[in-house]
Amino acid sequence: MAQTEVLVAGAGPTGLNLALWLTRLGVSVRIVDTSEGPGETSRAIAVQARTLEFYRQLGFAAEAVQRGTIANSIRVRLRGTEAGELDFGDRGDAVHAQSPYAYVLILPQDEHERMLVERLHEAGVEVERGTELLEYDDLGNGIRAVLNGPGGVRETVEAAYLCGCDGAHSSVRRRMGVGFPGGTYDRLFYVADVRGSGGGLDGRLNFCVDANSFCIALPLRHGQSTRLIGSVIQSVGDDRQLEFAAVAPEAAALTGGSFAGVDWFSTYRAHHRVADAFRKGNAFLLGDAAHIHSPAGGQGMNTGIGDAANVAWKIAAVLARRAEPALLDTYESERIPFARSLVATTDRLFASAVGDSLFDRFLRTVLVPRIVPELLNVEAVRLRWFDAISQTRIRYRTSALSEGAAGKIRGGDRLPWVDGPGGGNFAALASLDWQIHVYGKAETALREAAARHGIALHEFAPSEAAIRVRLEEDALYLVRPDGHVGLAQPDQDVVPLERYVTRLGIAGRDA
Ligand SMILES: Cc1cc2nc3c(=O)[nH]c(=O)nc-3n(C[C@H](O)[C@H](O)[C@H](O)COP(=O)(O)OP(=O)(O)OC[C@H]3O[C@@H](n4cnc5c(N)ncnc54)[C@H](O)[C@@H]3O)c2cc1C
Repeated sequence: MAQTEVLVAGAGPTGLNLALWLTRLGVSVRIVDTSEGPGETSRAIAVQARTLEFYRQLGFAAEAVQRGTIANSIRVRLRGTEAGELDFGDRGDAVHAQSPYAYVLILPQDEHERMLVERLHEAGVEVERGTELLEYDDLGNGIRAVLNGPGGVRETVEAAYLCGCDGAHSSVRRRMGVGFPGGTYDRLFYVADVRGSGGGLDGRLNFCVDANSFCIALPLRHGQSTRLIGSVIQSVGDDRQLEFAAVAPEAAALTGGSFAGVDWFSTYRAHHRVADAFRKGNAFLLGDAAHIHSPAGGQGMNTGIGDAANVAWKIAAVLARRAEPALLDTYESERIPFARSLVATTDRLFASAVGDSLFDRFLRTVLVPRIVPELLNVEAVRLRWFDAISQTRIRYRTSALSEGAAGKIRGGDRLPWVDGPGGGNFAALASLDWQIHVYGKAETALREAAARHGIALHEFAPSEAAIRVRLEEDALYLVRPDGHVGLAQPDQDVVPLERYVTRLGIAGRDA
């Protein structure tokens, strides 16, 4: 019988990221997908800063940026006419001190997936296409799964863990018997890749509104075409078989552009659901298999990629006996609260984007085009906005893995970024391993404790930049492989460090 350490079901962005992390961490992986090739349609196009930070850890952030288009401003159009601009351009302020990627990257999902497949191929792993996970049993000390491969050839595989990255209709979730409560929005959406000119088809990001509806226009493939995402107005109906011609007059009025052709058109209904559990025994749920919501805010795919970064190092550490199995419980306790709050937020956003109340109309015709652009001149507002969409503010302060505080930084927070020679403090995260950061001078006792546990210790010269992002001089930050602070201490007392490391049974890969 075939054996592997982790069986990944589904090779969308979530499964591909998980396989990349696990492979880099030395775990043997099989990744299977029912489809014959990477997705042909570019559903998710917004890649957020936190995702690019993970890609920097994996070594291909620069490539992703080069393949995509940086969007650092959004034009707001009121019934076709430019009304304001939400400007996130580099003003050298707190927003740009927050992340090396202080923007939204536009990268169509099909191209994005192709890049991930290539990187995985380089790492020696091929996606097994035309292969469906039919069922699995949890054996207590692992799982046994049945795959239906090309030509209907059945295969039984045993693995320590199964990761269900198999999308919204997840068969892993069904087999786990985990509920997926939530609902479906009434309003029908459309997605169209169009060619044309004028108005919002200008190779930039445009948010087009009027009293009745909205659409977003995004540049695709370096401005050669435009992606439109919008809600179908009620007078057009809600038949999913609609053609582009049915929505074109409204889309032209909203964008102020004229269309020369349409390359792809689809309608869809948005859902908002979060699975009741993200783990049962030796099976995990990640990405759309665990949570789905409206595309408002461009968060879905990025959240799945964050799930993968969160669970991969935990699985790798437990498999290598470098951490206690209880570490795996923290995947759900860290990621479910974020998924639930995200669904609630995108729900509110979405309701206002398509709602008919007086306030919703005021929001679309006055607040967004006229007032929000002015508000974004205020640094604090820009920062809150960036925090909300970039996913850089995701933190796990109440997790069993989070301990201590040093000034404003607490256990569970994402390690703040400090720019500097050689890539700044994020360069060290490429090891995908536990590490200690000191912004100042490390004491001998700390050096010895780090060496005893095989944990790398990085000393950074104290700087204005570090102080600006609230990193305290000579404090101790024990950083997890996914770039979150596990333990923060204002001093370098090694007793809490020893206690933390012993409690979780953690050892660095050099131990
Ligand atoms: C119009 C639209 C626009 C969007 N825009 C954005 C955006 O801008 N930003 C953003 O972050 N998100 C966006 N999203 C959401 C995003 O597309 C999804 O969140 C993302 O695709 C989820 O990735 P995934 O890998 O979890 O699941 P999927 O992409 O659904 O991949 C699941 C994979 O599992 C495979 N599979 C299914 N069942 C099995 C099985 N039994 N065995 C083996 N394989 C199986 C499928 O073939 C598929 O390849 C958008 C969604 C839509 C519809």
